[in-house]
Amino acid sequence: MTKKAILGLEAAEISALLPDEKPFRSRQIYTWLSQGVLDFSQMTNIPIDLREKLEALFFITRSTVQQELKDPDGTIKLQIELFDGHCIETVLLIDADKRKTACVSCQVGCAMKCAFCKTGTLGFKRNLESYEIIEQFFFLEKICGRLDNIVFMGMGEPMKNLSAIRKTITFLTEPKGRNLSPRRITLSTSGLVDGIYDLADNGPDIRLAISLTTANPKTREAIMPIAKTNTLDALKEATRYFIEKRKKRVSLEVALMKDINTGSEEIALLIDFAKNLDVHINLIPWNPIEELPFSEPSNNEVQRVLKTLQSAGINATIRKKRGRKIGGSCGQLGKLRLDK
Ligand code: SF4
Repeated sequence: MTKKAILGLEAAEISALLPDEKPFRSRQIYTWLSQGVLDFSQMTNIPIDLREKLEALFFITRSTVQQELKDPDGTIKLQIELFDGHCIETVLLIDADKRKTACVSCQVGCAMKCAFCKTGTLGFKRNLESYEIIEQFFFLEKICGRLDNIVFMGMGEPMKNLSAIRKTITFLTEPKGRNLSPRRITLSTSGLVDGIYDLADNGPDIRLAISLTTANPKTREAIMPIAKTNTLDALKEATRYFIEKRKKRVSLEVALMKDINTGSEEIALLIDFAKNLDVHINLIPWNPIEELPFSEPSNNEVQRVLKTLQSAGINATIRKKRGRKIGGSCGQLGKLRLDK
């Protein structure tokens, strides 16, 4: 008999799969799962015969953490092997205030092909199931204790796997379960307009980040193929709609690459895109990836961009470089198979 996934199910769903058991047992099982207990044998208030039944019917995880890489700055990257031999990476980021953020992957590879991103070179293999997203969160919590935030900014385009992400968020935010506040959840998209409207209209009520990179249509189309079908005008309208509907500021992520998007014309277009929108621009000096033909801008260049934006009244900050030594920074994730 094929085992079913149980991680990510609500108590009522577990109950429906265990019709012979009293409903309080399903709530107990759910509570263990929501605390990140990924082994039936550790569910000590469940009778042993029921634990054996659970073991026979379900799996909690079929993935294995194969590598734990630590950067001197505190960032940790996990390389996780999935049941089918594919690999994904997930990252723990710790900021100056010691807040811990899980940056999780939602797909194996990615179809978006952003030219500056290592994951974009891998091609798309498959969507992750919600349990494969939730377990990344708990694998990290086993290492660092309770996480404060989760960002869907790892491998893959979240808008292309929105149903699994919605399931993940329902599970993690359930007040009787893990009870993570939706305010502590951010989804980052390369700019899929339909997905932004869907999120604005149907929730969940989380934060949105858009990997804008440049507001120059020619540059954007050259380095982000998605821009050919999701134009900057359409993206701006969708951003405005999300801000108004959800009453939330949106983050615009701008990976700064030397001689690509740091010039004064590029920054003028960025100002034009951002003005009159409740947005915050996150400047991310491009994180080097050996096989890609881009360069990191100098500190002076980055500071000049920041000052120009701020002088124009745009909210902007520079993202601190983290996790570079372990290939755990923004855009650097990308392994489909593990080196063994
Ligand atoms: S930046 Fe995001 S959407 Fe673009 S290729 Fe990389 S993972 Fe995919």
